[in-house]
Amino acid sequence: MSRRVVIVGAGVLGAATACFLARDHGCEVTLLERDTGFARASSSLSASSIRQQFSTAVNVALSRWSLDFLRRAAQELAVDGEGPALGLVEPGYLYLARADTQARLRAAHALQRAAGAEVALLEPAALRARFPWLRTDDLALGSLGLRGEGWFDGPALHRAFLRKARACGARLVRADAVGFEARGARVLGVRLADGACVPAQDVVLCAGAWSAALAATLGLAWPVRARKRDVFVFDSPAVLPGCPLLIDPGGVWCRPEGRGYIAGAPPRALADGGPGDPDEPDLQAIDHALFEQVIWPALANRVPAFEALRLRSAWAGYYEMNDFDHNGLAGAVPGWAGLWTACGFSGHGMQQAPAVGCALAAAIAGATGGADGRGGSCGSGRADAAQSPPSIEALSPQRLDRGERLVELNVI
Ligand SMILES: Cc1cc2nc3c(=O)[nH]c(=O)nc-3n(C[C@H](O)[C@H](O)[C@H](O)COP(=O)(O)OP(=O)(O)OC[C@H]3O[C@@H](n4cnc5c(N)ncnc54)[C@H](O)[C@@H]3O)c2cc1C
Repeated sequence: MSRRVVIVGAGVLGAATACFLARDHGCEVTLLERDTGFARASSSLSASSIRQQFSTAVNVALSRWSLDFLRRAAQELAVDGEGPALGLVEPGYLYLARADTQARLRAAHALQRAAGAEVALLEPAALRARFPWLRTDDLALGSLGLRGEGWFDGPALHRAFLRKARACGARLVRADAVGFEARGARVLGVRLADGACVPAQDVVLCAGAWSAALAATLGLAWPVRARKRDVFVFDSPAVLPGCPLLIDPGGVWCRPEGRGYIAGAPPRALADGGPGDPDEPDLQAIDHALFEQVIWPALANRVPAFEALRLRSAWAGYYEMNDFDHNGLAGAVPGWAGLWTACGFSGHGMQQAPAVGCALAAAIAGATGGADGRGGSCGSGRADAAQSPPSIEALSPQRLDRGERLVELNVI
């Protein structure tokens, strides 16, 4: 008999985990989701970019594996012969540094190269030759992704995981989870707001920025918070051949999107002496002053042609920020048999959902004796069934209890 797995939260991480559990391991999967319109889910509001330029090796590995998955997603996630169109493009990321921050770029470069990333350090002259539209006189160095970095349609990936999971038998149920059913140190199911209990042999907590509230019902103090990030959409007559995702030394970023551009920056609340990064502020309250006072001046300084840009619109979403070390929590939850999680990916969860979902599903199926290799029963379409995802052991929530930080420095 197949294992009964209940997943709380059907954002991209819950959906990916459900997909791999149902497709590859024959598990009986129920996804509990309180808003099936996903209006405030990070997965609906993401900038959906993918990079290899991290400061921790596990992140390089997870994004590299996920990039390969995105390239073959049309086969991997096909239903009835129809695969998703994810619009993946790979113009790279370009991190820029002045003299005082170039050492950090060089250190990250060494780690990235050792982890197999195809990245190059460019001096200002090389930057000018490659990107003549870029102002470089105040720069010391740039780090450019040569392959395997870019952006894609994240909500389309999310929908494709959900669709494939359901085609393989997973159920999506509209329900508001309020806690867990447990006996001793074993989780036996999920309690809902209407008083019902959904029994499970395994429960996976994938509630994004809201995961800590559910973990708290088991006495777990998780440092995952809802940190608002604004994204601005603008038009510009500027023609910028080969424009990558640019990250200015101060953290302002921008990239092409459709016929225009999108841009963002760390919130003003994080600036020196600021009051901090508040938890779950109103998503409708776009910080237009951030664009006027911080982003536009930085963009016009870096790309003089952006002096003439026109702001078109803006949106905001929550980074599911793990304040402990800015990395995801993924794997078995220590102290609770039958409880797993994938949450707190701190702004890089969209791109890592394929690898994390695949690895987590394998861990759950391995631990529970799931029926491996049954993916063909729902037409898995797997292009390379032998390829395993990287280990997610480094992301185990155990590091919270041990006080062992796995700090990711490259959080945009
Ligand atoms: C502005 C912005 C830009 C971003 N840019 C990038 C990027 O360029 N690249 C990248 O990789 N990542 C990016 N991210 C981050 C990425 O979008 C997230 O890491 C990812 O979407 C997280 O997915 P999730 O499934 O964990 O969370 P979510 O998508 O938030 O899903 C969690 C789900 O759980 C549900 N839920 C919560 N509590 C309960 C409950 N009690 N009962 C039932 N359901 C519940 C919620 O309704 C929600 O649908 C960005 C995010 C934002 C906001």
